[in-house]
Amino acid sequence: MTVTEPAAAIAETFDSLNPATGEVVGTHRIFTDAEVNETVQRGRKAAAWWAELGFADRGKILRGWRSALVRRSAELADLMHQENGKPHADAMIEIVLAADHLDWASKHARKVLGRRRVSSGMLMINQTASVEYQPLGVVGVIGPWNYPVFTPAGSIVYALAAGNAVVFKPSEYTPGIGQWLADSFREVAGDLPLFQVITGLGATGNALCRSGVDKLAFTGSAATGKKVMAACAENLTPVVIEAGGKDALLVDEDANLDAAADAAVWGGMSNAGQTCVGVERVYVHERVYDQFLDKVVTLAKDLKAGEGEPIGPITMPSQLKVIRRHIADAIEHGGRAVVGGLDAVGDRYVQPTVLVDVPEESAAVREETFGPTLTIAKVPDMEDALRRANATNYGLGGAVFSRARGLELARRLRSGMTSVNGVITFAGVPSLPFGGIGESGFGRIHGPDGMREFARPKAITQQRFTSPVRTTTFTRRPSDDRQLVRMARLLYGRR
Ligand code: NAD
Repeated sequence: MTVTEPAAAIAETFDSLNPATGEVVGTHRIFTDAEVNETVQRGRKAAAWWAELGFADRGKILRGWRSALVRRSAELADLMHQENGKPHADAMIEIVLAADHLDWASKHARKVLGRRRVSSGMLMINQTASVEYQPLGVVGVIGPWNYPVFTPAGSIVYALAAGNAVVFKPSEYTPGIGQWLADSFREVAGDLPLFQVITGLGATGNALCRSGVDKLAFTGSAATGKKVMAACAENLTPVVIEAGGKDALLVDEDANLDAAADAAVWGGMSNAGQTCVGVERVYVHERVYDQFLDKVVTLAKDLKAGEGEPIGPITMPSQLKVIRRHIADAIEHGGRAVVGGLDAVGDRYVQPTVLVDVPEESAAVREETFGPTLTIAKVPDMEDALRRANATNYGLGGAVFSRARGLELARRLRSGMTSVNGVITFAGVPSLPFGGIGESGFGRIHGPDGMREFARPKAITQQRFTSPVRTTTFTRRPSDDRQLVRMARLLYGRR
């Protein structure tokens, strides 16, 4: 990335680069603090209109945007290939998944957020009670580069469906994609600033945190998530933090080994391993370890990273150093590369690498690698697999391959989501919440939980008739107080 020299009265800019070639893909403005604040203020006016519009009309506009995304998917996928580096076909999958969430959110917002009656209970039997979920106002979204459409869409789409305006700060590695998304929305929704993009580096993201947005949805590394939370704390701005992971895949002795090996290789290597819920560690029952490893090696050794290959470049050049360090450290401490190795790390691409016999305390097992690498460890039983899988500060996703114990093991994995006999499938189910625990963050996107992240519950009681037992008045008589106590004894006093 090159930040051009600031010139008087000329906005500062930065370039986004094609990670496969280093060529400039686009030049973008660095929004200043003042410009970020103005953008949020503009969004506030649009938010009021959008909130008034109601579920049905908002839904129509969102479905219009969904259709536009699908119709123009080839164009967007081209841009994603250029700016992020991912293969065109992978970009298409990402767009289709985002469209699926958009469709779900547009159709379910009323059911999830609309006013509904709830029981008023015995003490307030004279009241009707209802709850509805009202929009927050303007939601700030800060996104990463690895899934530059699907990941921010998980916040943007649900925030819009809940009736908010959005100000989005895309990653400095994929600003053109972020701008494309906002432009395509405006073409459908009209010129009101409902979904605006601010481009820039970390400082622009920091300005968004301090701009007075009504909520900040952050997706990125845990380290930046902590800075975001600290900045948001200045105004008590609530946050959703979707951070990194070190997801494990467990292979039980009765697992379908072909399916498990395929899932491990795809889960670990697709998108060049740059997937927050990608497989980074595999724990395999000793009875099937050798067979499983053979299958993984067979699949991974023919897989290539390069232009036109199924694995694209490493999008963020500084990650190459991290990947190299993890592989070197693993080998130095007794690990072996059965596919790839240190030579696999090139200037732009990393070839698939499978490491075995890696000590559990090494960086390759404990830290997020974010490259097309896997560590595979032999375990005596699934209890040990669970113990090792859970021995991390992260807790995002995970996968279990087992015929008999899939659900049981999945429930005991300390993470927000787990696939049984599949990998990352939970991300494609719009009605499921997505998010982590521990250093992987908190709060949820997707599904009803994700939609309610971007709304505030509003509780209303309305009197139907005068209460036979007066409580909320100074005019109540001693007989009211006695009756209340009698009622409480009757209702709750029994053992
Ligand atoms: P990053 O933390 O470097 O950057 C994320 C965003 O934060 C970028 O837009 C960046 O400009 C911005 N930023 C940087 N400093 C900031 C600051 N001080 N204040 C506010 N914003 C700031 O992360 P990245 O390298 O873009 O993304 C990769 C990380 O994202 C990985 O750890 C990955 O696991 C994680 N991720 C998580 C999920 C999830 O849903 N949990 C999804 C995708 C990626």
